[in-house]
Amino acid sequence: MSAKIVNNLSAVLHKVDDLRLEEWPMPASPQSNQVLLRTKCVGICGSDVHYWKHGRIGNFLLDEPIILGHETCAEVVEVGPGVTNFKVGDRVCTEPAVPCRLCSTCKEGYYNLCANISCHATPPHSGTLTQYFNHPADYTFKIPEQMTDEEGAMIEPLTVAVYACRRAQVTVGKTVLITGAGPIGLFNIMVAKALGAEQVVVTDINEKRLKLAQSVGADHTVLITKATEEDKLVTEIGQTLGQMPDITIECSGAPSSTRLALMATREGGTVVLVGHGPSNVSLPIADAAIREVNILGSFRYRNCFPLSISLVNLKPLISHRFSFDQTLDAFNTAFKGEGVKIIIKVEPDN
Ligand code: NAD
Ligand code: ZN
Repeated sequence: MSAKIVNNLSAVLHKVDDLRLEEWPMPASPQSNQVLLRTKCVGICGSDVHYWKHGRIGNFLLDEPIILGHETCAEVVEVGPGVTNFKVGDRVCTEPAVPCRLCSTCKEGYYNLCANISCHATPPHSGTLTQYFNHPADYTFKIPEQMTDEEGAMIEPLTVAVYACRRAQVTVGKTVLITGAGPIGLFNIMVAKALGAEQVVVTDINEKRLKLAQSVGADHTVLITKATEEDKLVTEIGQTLGQMPDITIECSGAPSSTRLALMATREGGTVVLVGHGPSNVSLPIADAAIREVNILGSFRYRNCFPLSISLVNLKPLISHRFSFDQTLDAFNTAFKGEGVKIIIKVEPDN
């Protein structure tokens, strides 16, 4: 690494609507079990845009400036003492949420649920829209030569889907309903098909998103309109698939979708809740109980990055590319809902 670099250009969120490109200090040399990384590119997530526009998500409140970004592809520039599985020049993606490793939740293996987790771009922790950052080596993963940097940056959101499909036990022959065809829903379609799902039906309120869903492997799509009655929708989904879905993966956060998930999933089937909606939702819960519908939460991921890296071709999801100095334009594009996956190239192409 060049010793001359003292300033570390970063996209820093100061407060609502105040995102600035400014120079932050270079990180110190990596400590034991750390690698120093030079960021290549970063995808924008809905949560980055939400912090920019609202300054909080739930209890996570922005009360001091942080660097945004957590969907990251980077290159190793220095390895800390004791790190043996990386060398300078390795291209990597990073698992952004690093747990304490010590609490009972971590020790029982549910490290994604650790109460002391620190996650990139979740206040008060800074993210990766910065030229250089240190990261624990065991939460860093090499990406293969044939994978582009942009695909490397999409491994993180893809992993949300890999974990959801694992929670749901999507396997060969299953029928799957995915509600919501934003990036997370689209990744779930790709993963469900890659894991052998026989039929995937996808809902959205946006026709463009449903076209995209088809282009990445959905077998059927159902457009939701305000006028559609729930019961009719359930019937339509059953008719489309020839049976009610074994599995529903809720990826919109819309209360009506969560209701649909419970109603449409077959008896003994599984609903996985990935979307984040309002804290209180009215649900047809008694019917789900007597039909033994399993309802599972799904938060981020655990132990899934290695599988994600080997799974699917992600290129079709990139809708926009911006240079680092166009970061604000990138966020405005994301805010207007114009894109699917928007990539910021922190390091310019050679
Ligand atoms: P997004 O907003 O881009 O996509 C949501 C999609 O749902 C949009 O295409 C929208 O048109 C559609 N939608 C809205 N109302 C609908 C309805 N009634 N029926 C069907 N579709 C409807 O968001 P995203 O980035 O794809 O993320 C999806 C959800 O997953 C969000 O709630 C996000 O907060 C959540 N999320 C959860 C995790 C996790 O770890 N559990 C991780 C990342 C994102
Ligand atoms: Zn812990």
